[in-house]
Amino acid sequence: MISSKLGNFLNDKLENYIISAEKVAHVQMGNNLEHALLVLTKCGYSVIPVLDFEFKLHGLISSAMITDSILGMERIEYERLEQLKVEDVMQTKIPVLTNSHDIEKIVKLLVDNPFICIVDGEGVFEGIVTRHVILKQVQRYIHE
Ligand code: AMP
Repeated sequence: MISSKLGNFLNDKLENYIISAEKVAHVQMGNNLEHALLVLTKCGYSVIPVLDFEFKLHGLISSAMITDSILGMERIEYERLEQLKVEDVMQTKIPVLTNSHDIEKIVKLLVDNPFICIVDGEGVFEGIVTRHVILKQVQRYIHE
């Protein structure tokens, strides 16, 4: 159980910690791996969400997943980047929260994950909470 003082401190501004969906780099279901690699390279993040056209969350994709999927026996099969879709290689078992106010769950999940996706009751992607943002607040709390 998170101490109530720290819990309250974090809970107070929880909405401010969420990086809203429109600011989160993502790829869409149906995009090929070439496009996904381009987005990942351009945004500079190693993992980003995969959404459908209704903005529902389906998984996460990373550069490592893409590279792994085009590794042949003797060479990297670059031509497969165009053929494979993000849904062929994305990770679907991912940490997701529907209640962005559950700071205890958020902190618990952030121990093993750099960020947590937040969705609404229908699975529509609302944004992410990152380990970086929460740790920054913990640091502020310790100093205050
Ligand atoms: P950070 O804690 O800021 O380093 O972010 C941790 C991870 O969250 C990054 O490596 C990305 O996978 C993801 N992330 C953070 N901000 C964004 C963003 N604006 N768009 C997409 N992914 C993000």
